[in-house]
Amino acid sequence: MTYPAAAGDLRPETPTAPARAEERSAVIDLEAIRHNVRRLAAVASPAKVMAVVKADGYGHGAVPVARAALSAGATWLGVAHISEALALRAAGIEAPLLAWLHTPDSNFAAAVAAGIDIGCSGWELGRIVAAAREQERPARIHLKVDTGLGRNGASIDTWDSLLGEAMEYQDQGLLRVVGIFSHLAVADEPERPETDEQLALFRDVLAVARDAGMDPEVRHLANTPATLSRPDTHFDLVRVGLGLYGLSPFAGQSSAELGLRPAMTVRTVVSNCKDVPAGQGVSYGLNYRTGGVTTLGLIPLGYADGVPRIGTGGPVRVEGTNYPVVGRIAMDQMVIDLGQRNVAAGGPSILGAEAVLFGDGTDGGPTAEDWAAAAGTINYEIVTRISPRVPRRYVNEQPSVSENPSAGEGRR
Ligand SMILES: *Cc1c(COP(=O)(O)O)cnc(C)c1O
Repeated sequence: MTYPAAAGDLRPETPTAPARAEERSAVIDLEAIRHNVRRLAAVASPAKVMAVVKADGYGHGAVPVARAALSAGATWLGVAHISEALALRAAGIEAPLLAWLHTPDSNFAAAVAAGIDIGCSGWELGRIVAAAREQERPARIHLKVDTGLGRNGASIDTWDSLLGEAMEYQDQGLLRVVGIFSHLAVADEPERPETDEQLALFRDVLAVARDAGMDPEVRHLANTPATLSRPDTHFDLVRVGLGLYGLSPFAGQSSAELGLRPAMTVRTVVSNCKDVPAGQGVSYGLNYRTGGVTTLGLIPLGYADGVPRIGTGGPVRVEGTNYPVVGRIAMDQMVIDLGQRNVAAGGPSILGAEAVLFGDGTDGGPTAEDWAAAAGTINYEIVTRISPRVPRRYVNEQPSVSENPSAGEGRR
């Protein structure tokens, strides 16, 4: 089944026409998502898994990823914004669901009404309680403490008073403190000492809560890198984002080395292929000039599709070879230099061939990490920034019979 990214992608199709891949698509392998969830759940066990599907599931599609993750053993979902959580509820997803990044304009009443758990760093508490009164329903909150990241979360010196206030409201039946959590700053660099410091502070905070008689259902600290490298950070629940999508958070370790499978493949179809002379300038600025007589391939993806404009040199795989992008990446297109092919004289043209920007990296194919290196960024950004102009196409929506031998039972 296809989830078009926008109404404009709904092209009429002849029902009898053979299935044809879109001209450009981000193919999302939901079996890879399920595999990654099972892998992360095994690592985290007995802690439970929260699948983090913020930012439209890091560009993979929040709803299909959430469904796949829940079917594979994740028991919680996490997002940044209440609006993202509401969209999941609107899609019929009823799993426990936490949203943690708010502004005074956030719709806390809608969150309470939809049974969404609300992260609370302090200032939100009054508004959450007001929402609970309005909805005549207790809010579910997770108190967040800043153990060193310096972003959200209650400062350590305000923890006592926030805890006390929250407990009073809990006694009044206006809310339930479901969780206590914090977020790590450098877990992707396991050799750094700050994770130990954050962990020690988190333990202190939990001890204060316990001594005050607060016994939350879930204490959570670990993101993907901590889940994979620091079992002592797992507590009751791990919040995994990147790993869910099969990507490695560590500079020196590949997805395969971590037992993960990248779920997104961005591919298109070559839109032009022509011979050019030596010294031909390529793309705006003419920053690249061909070294000799050669053949250029035109790839119809650009920065409007989420390819970083700065990523010249990033790989595009066509017919089993990775070619670096040459010249500037434009809004809609970019160019690869194929070497002399003499297409005019009947040499091998790649017009219409499939072109892959990145995928699961098997057989030497390009990866999101390759594009991150070309663009001076991280794999998180490469997948997340693929724009709505690239339709998402989902494969392996249902577990195969061999994957889940009992799936066929009881159907009749
Ligand atoms: C995004 C986010 C995560 C997930 O981080 P990954 O490194 O992608 O696993 C976990 N917790 C919080 C609070 C986040 O904002």
